[in-house]
Amino acid sequence: MSVKVFPAGGIAIPHRKGLTEALPIKRIALPEAVVIPLHQHTGAPCKPLVAPGERVVKGQKIGDTDARISAPVHSSVTGRVEAVEPRPTVHGEVLSVVIRREDSEDSGDGIGPVRSIDGLEVTGIIDAVREAGVVGLAGEGFPTHFKWVVTPDFPVDTVLINGAECEPYLTADHRLLVERTGDVVSGLRLAMKATGARRGVIAIENNKPDAIEAARDAVRQWYDIDVVVLGTKYPQGAKKMLTRAVLGREVPPHTRSYQEGVVINNVQTAVAAADAVLRRKPLYEKVITVSGGAVNSPANLVVPIGMSFRDVLSAAGGTSGNFRLVVGGPMTGVGVDDLDLPLTKTVTALLALTPAEYFDGEPGPCIRCARCVDRCPMRLTPNMIVAYIERGDVAMAERIYIEDCMECGVCAFVCPARRPLIQKIKEGKTALAASQARAS
Ligand code: SF4
Ligand code: SF4
Repeated sequence: MSVKVFPAGGIAIPHRKGLTEALPIKRIALPEAVVIPLHQHTGAPCKPLVAPGERVVKGQKIGDTDARISAPVHSSVTGRVEAVEPRPTVHGEVLSVVIRREDSEDSGDGIGPVRSIDGLEVTGIIDAVREAGVVGLAGEGFPTHFKWVVTPDFPVDTVLINGAECEPYLTADHRLLVERTGDVVSGLRLAMKATGARRGVIAIENNKPDAIEAARDAVRQWYDIDVVVLGTKYPQGAKKMLTRAVLGREVPPHTRSYQEGVVINNVQTAVAAADAVLRRKPLYEKVITVSGGAVNSPANLVVPIGMSFRDVLSAAGGTSGNFRLVVGGPMTGVGVDDLDLPLTKTVTALLALTPAEYFDGEPGPCIRCARCVDRCPMRLTPNMIVAYIERGDVAMAERIYIEDCMECGVCAFVCPARRPLIQKIKEGKTALAASQARAS
């Protein structure tokens, strides 16, 4: 089987997917209460549409805004609004709607009959995706309807469904490719119709042979859709890497894939778009991987938005022993101490990692081995960028392209001194943004 990979940098990492990759996706019991943040996406936060004491039904819109770049949020349970107040999230305090569940049946989810793609207008597709609150579900949170609005300056020829899922442990997209293949293809066809793209591609790493087979079967009737097999190399799922590997197009610094004619959506976003347009189902739940050595029953679970991490871990049989909770994959995720934070649209996984699964030692000084430079897929010099940040010279960090760092974690992974490179680069980006704001 011929495979495609991006050429420069990157690493082979342990997959650690065996705990969940063969397990069918499971639905879990709904929690007693949910906390639904009104800002779970790139762009403007939503304003609340409900007040304390009000009854809401599952799927009801509870927050929205007129801002161009934003996405509404919906209730994931039927119940009563207890509070509308700032609550802590992984990304700081966010105005949130707290809902106590009342209806054990959870009826009234607003899901309509399945519609056909044929005959749908572009504006109808875009409106339905927006109204359902669909955003990039692999972690970026960019509103999908906005991504699908094409401007004359940047015509789109290809829609690429990202099925790489290259981070260790993560298998939710893999299972969706196997179990909801038809909806992945429908989401792709909707994106092609909305953007006017003539070609569709589903790109999957070759460590998921059953997903590749399912996708090939599903696209057999579509002459304009291909399945491309990728080699397993991290970070193959990053947009610029994917565009290079699949289409051979280089996305230069300071530009994005859409400027090279490519719209990229991940697998679960495609499924959510199909649900939104064809079933009128809002995005109030998602599939995440719950894994790691401390989880008693690792699984891929359908989880309502707003459920606490503690409740999700309980639904996976609870945990044993000491662990560190990572929200997202181990390469790009965030370590958190507060298990009562709510799950949002952009969470891909909850990993309860044992001490043997994460590094917890003291970082040492840079020994100038240049491994980080050799492996950086963006051809940056992470050691130099961090040296400038530590000196407080963000202007020099900018000159050597700190803004092109995609925070993939490769440099930190290969660093023998265990330097906190990503943390420093994030701090540098924040300092650079502040200095740019002061200058404007
Ligand atoms: S995190 Fe940034 S600097 Fe480090 S390897 Fe990835 S792109 Fe390069
Ligand atoms: S890999 Fe670590 S020790 Fe080596 S040059 Fe980069 S920052 Fe320094």
